[in-house]
Amino acid sequence: MPSQHAVPLPFPGDRQDLRADCSACFGLCCVALPFARSADFAVTKPAGKPCANLTTEFRCGIHERLRETGYAGCTVFDCFGAGQKVSQVTFGGTDWRAAPETAPDMAGVFPVMRQLHELLWYITEALGLAPARPVHEELRRARDRIDGLTRGSAGSIVELDVNTLRGEVNVLLLRAGELARAHLPGRRKNHRGADLVGAKLSGAALRGASLRGALLVAADLSGADLRDADLIGTDLRDADLSGADLTGALFLTQAQLNAARGDAATVLPPAFSRPSHW
Ligand code: SF4
Repeated sequence: MPSQHAVPLPFPGDRQDLRADCSACFGLCCVALPFARSADFAVTKPAGKPCANLTTEFRCGIHERLRETGYAGCTVFDCFGAGQKVSQVTFGGTDWRAAPETAPDMAGVFPVMRQLHELLWYITEALGLAPARPVHEELRRARDRIDGLTRGSAGSIVELDVNTLRGEVNVLLLRAGELARAHLPGRRKNHRGADLVGAKLSGAALRGASLRGALLVAADLSGADLRDADLIGTDLRDADLSGADLTGALFLTQAQLNAARGDAATVLPPAFSRPSHW
């Protein structure tokens, strides 16, 4: 879905493997995931059913017109490279059209793999944070373990207890985020898990703040100072980031940016691309 229109950028470290490569994927996000008719999707589609817009080459037939045709939801999804891993590693490069009997398993593995790759994305970022060195050894162990899990059989992947795994990794990421922000001057605001839907935060001083899991849907963050803020799991759908400064923001994802609004003045960390609708 969205990864088909995210502009690929060079990424430091091995996170390149955690970026979607639609050319190596069998359109899994357009098959495995369900969506319901809404402001984000023009139609309803159950999980496992190929989207009517998916071409025989596993590309989106309306890729250039997704927002205009009612598929904005497709522009805010990122598989973190799970699509190509499932297609090429788990199923060895044989697609579900050539081997229809694999389709249900492929659709079942993909959402789990996406979660594993998302964890690898965050872990890899934390391993690049020098102040988080005290937890790097544990993070490396978690990374190696999860990487090994992603290379297991389809059956072993669907049986994984991802919630438990996520909980274990979250402890490390929380610590890494705290260590990374500890050196910042002044008192750091804590809005972890806060309900800030529609909040008026224009120009807010949120440098180094914890916004972990905060709901900032449709919030006005225009001109806000979000430098070094911890944004893991922050819901930024339709939030206004016009002119905001996200330099050094921690655990940011392209999907969060794609779901938000912004403009040419929004300052992004170098590894991210400016969404085309901004
Ligand atoms: S509209 Fe395009 S990107 Fe969205 S699910 Fe269908 S084929 Fe995939």
